[in-house]
Amino acid sequence: MNEYRVVLPPDVAADVETFLTDRGADGLEGTGLIACIRQAEDHWIATRFVAPDQRAKRGLGGCWVEVTDAGKRQLAAGLGRGERYLVRVHSHPGEAFHSDTDNCNPALTFIGALSVVAPYFGLGLRRGLDACAVLRLTARGWEPVDGERTRWLRAGTDWETGK
Ligand SMILES: [Zn+2]
Repeated sequence: MNEYRVVLPPDVAADVETFLTDRGADGLEGTGLIACIRQAEDHWIATRFVAPDQRAKRGLGGCWVEVTDAGKRQLAAGLGRGERYLVRVHSHPGEAFHSDTDNCNPALTFIGALSVVAPYFGLGLRRGLDACAVLRLTARGWEPVDGERTRWLRAGTDWETGK
């Protein structure tokens, strides 16, 4: 099964935005995974945003963020019964896109996994998911879902309509 359709309830979406913009207030990118639980068939609902221990830097070459070894253990131990990480979220200082580094990020490597890049240190989330880059891992690699975004990833009212 590799057709994951995920709904992000407003409280989980708000947790993501709060975390990313808090990091952004320090000029840092943030990253985390969204734990989901199956509702029916290939429909999942996001239960929690998990922001693991991470290290971020800004410098002349730009910004980067990486999950520490402690963070990786946190993520591995952090799943509740029936939960699964289906979505990775991270922020960029500027435009939202998948960099080469993002394409190689090992956090989610299964077909159907989703990746959200929030622009402007997470502030872009105020304009909803359409302001973000949303990608899906296929057999050909990470591909933008573009106009098909709501087929794979829907959000609660705030994110869906912009505030
Ligand atoms: Zn990135």
